[in-house]
Amino acid sequence: MTGRLIDGKALADELRAAFKARVASLTARGHRPGLAVILAGEDPASQVYVRNKVNACEAAGIFSLKIDAPADVSQETLLAKINELNHDPAIHGILVQLPLPRHIDEETVLEAIAPEKDVDGFHAVNIGALAQGNPRFIPCTPYGVMKMLEANRIDPAGKEAVVIGRSNIAGKPMAMLLLNANATVTVCHSKTRDLAAHARRADILVAAVGKPRFVTADMVKPGAVVIDVGINRLPVEEGGKLCGDVDFEAVKETASLITPVPGGVGPMTITMLLANTIEAAERRAGA
Ligand code: NAP
Repeated sequence: MTGRLIDGKALADELRAAFKARVASLTARGHRPGLAVILAGEDPASQVYVRNKVNACEAAGIFSLKIDAPADVSQETLLAKINELNHDPAIHGILVQLPLPRHIDEETVLEAIAPEKDVDGFHAVNIGALAQGNPRFIPCTPYGVMKMLEANRIDPAGKEAVVIGRSNIAGKPMAMLLLNANATVTVCHSKTRDLAAHARRADILVAAVGKPRFVTADMVKPGAVVIDVGINRLPVEEGGKLCGDVDFEAVKETASLITPVPGGVGPMTITMLLANTIEAAERRAGA
């Protein structure tokens, strides 16, 4: 059996097309959604991510403000900038591109963002609300995964869901969302014993590990839904292409549904950032 592809790019295009009317309505009422993106340092991958986010805002009619800070920016300067943006009525969402330079405490910076402008959903208030089953802003990557499941009529209720990875931005919120959707959730990580045995029980298997082709076909139950969050750059000698955490060519023969990399979860992440920014503007506008 060959699994069906979950086309993240097509779903992202469909959702983004639907955003335009909401943005137009807000703009007409003087509440054009605005997103501020702060980039500290010159990490090439971060520069690409930020450019993609800014371009996506423009295409959706969302105002975007890109703030570049040098790699040696002080934490105080960053906190002052965030404080200014917290009070700026033209800005509804604030995003600090991670990772931050090493001398800056990530948690302190993320906690400085006003929770009602935390469109990445990383503030403790928003993570807490998600953990309580009453989310306000949901971290964009796992939010995108839930939208992909929904669009493919996969209801997690009662299913075995296994998430590999427990980062604050991907694995952990993913597990909370699946739990809120009534799946029976197992979270695996680097200290998990016999990870393959856990993975093989999964009706929904999510890989957020950061290791190319980590999930092999023998780890996947026939008919499982496999979601590949990983984005890894292969070494030049292997072609230098992007590759997920799942051995796609082999696993697609076992899974019933599978996301490709690229073109799977990636396009949905930015889409949900736009969704959260529009949502923030609608809340402020009282829509
Ligand atoms: P991360 O912070 O490095 O977390 C990786 C997780 O994988 C950790 O929980 C780690 O366990 C676990 N892990 C590492 N090696 C393992 C092993 N051998 N066995 C089991 N678990 C293992 O990474 P992340 O930020 O969550 O990102 C994961 C991947 O998703 C990366 O490829 C990243 O580029 C990608 N990503 C994609 C998007 C998107 O838009 N599609 C967004 C975010 C991230 P411990 O906790 O025990 O260390």
